[in-house]
Amino acid sequence: MDQPPIVTRFAPSPTGRLHLGHAHSALFAYVQAQGGRFLLRMEDIDPTRCRRAFEAGIMEDLEWLGLRWEQPVRRQSEHLDDYAAALARLDAMGLIYPCFCTRKDIAEAGSAPHGPDGPIYPGLCRDVSPSERAERMAAGQPFALRLNMIAATRRTGALVWHDRSIGNLVAQPELFGDVVLARKDIPTSYHLAVTVDDALQNVTLVTRGEDLFAATHVHRLLQALLDLPVPAYTHHRLLTDETGRRYAKRDRSLTIEALRQAGHSAAQLRAMAGFPEPHP
Ligand code: GLU
Repeated sequence: MDQPPIVTRFAPSPTGRLHLGHAHSALFAYVQAQGGRFLLRMEDIDPTRCRRAFEAGIMEDLEWLGLRWEQPVRRQSEHLDDYAAALARLDAMGLIYPCFCTRKDIAEAGSAPHGPDGPIYPGLCRDVSPSERAERMAAGQPFALRLNMIAATRRTGALVWHDRSIGNLVAQPELFGDVVLARKDIPTSYHLAVTVDDALQNVTLVTRGEDLFAATHVHRLLQALLDLPVPAYTHHRLLTDETGRRYAKRDRSLTIEALRQAGHSAAQLRAMAGFPEPHP
């Protein structure tokens, strides 16, 4: 039987122009999709940080690098109803709860162990009574929605995911504690939106930087809870400058745009980003 085509995606947040680290990530996804499909997704759920002008700049940079992607480009801010539907399913399973805590409340709760996303939530709102929840909501207190990690992992049992360079891994979402699935200011979160989108876009191979390796544990759990297909994963190294520092948005001189304006060719840029010829 024919193998279904590989579907990969590059999923930047349009909060600035692309730098060499992004070029590496985009080329990595593009090369992995050879013979298959390559998608572009704008992870623009945070309206305070994302700009349409940066989207246009990102597309210009990718095109100049020689990359081509399928249309339409999925823009997360246009699909909030998909994330709401996922939250409604988790709510119907009794797995999410409103959390009214401020950063200060969490800090004052004492020294919490750290997980991959920072301090693990100490569970202050987990057992608030339904009537108190209703009262606080009615009073207009802002709240996030958190996943009850113990209940969620109990429901799914042990889960496995596959990293192409490591092999099979047992998922450890409990490392994160009760993750936020909808923020106070935004009705979703990175973990929820990325998992739902990869499924809706039929992505078969998720490629991304190794800084997001641990996040895959949470995504695997959400897939099991929401009956979503499970893609394969591969996490690439993070490109660093000559001093060993990761490229970041602050490195204005190392954006694709700046390097291009300084006279570098697309082939040179691809080589600097770790993908010398052949042309992608
Ligand atoms: N939007 C994320 C970023 O810019 C990448 C998300 C992903 O590939 O899972 O780092």
